[in-house]
Amino acid sequence: MSHTGSCRCGVISADAHGEPFRRAYCHCRDCRKQTGAPVMAFVGFKDEDLTFFGEPQSYRFGGVERVFCGRCGSQIGYRDEELPGRIYLTLGFMDEPQNHPPAFHAFTKRQLPFVELADDLPHFDGFPPER
Ligand SMILES: [Zn+2]
Ligand SMILES: [Zn+2]
Repeated sequence: MSHTGSCRCGVISADAHGEPFRRAYCHCRDCRKQTGAPVMAFVGFKDEDLTFFGEPQSYRFGGVERVFCGRCGSQIGYRDEELPGRIYLTLGFMDEPQNHPPAFHAFTKRQLPFVELADDLPHFDGFPPER
């Protein structure tokens, strides 16, 4: 199955040829600040499986590069220096987000008290053992 993604205005899009290796929620403060959302969800792909169309802008801090559309401001995803060759796309960037249910929660020590998600997924205080 191929997976596609696009920003709100359509200037940036992506085509993935392989399956994602990771699907997860992140409750950390950085993700909240960057996206404005109470909790984020990400879909991780290997760079080699992904083709981008258009040129995303980026913001780098502390070894993490956040990628977004310079025209409409949509958050596209992030790369972590410590995890070379991988990109974590935002769930909202995916054209068929219903196909990407998260498998666990990361950074639940930062979870907002009023964010309640009714699932039995594993929870991790910080990073999961496998990223
Ligand atoms: Zn855009
Ligand atoms: Zn995060």
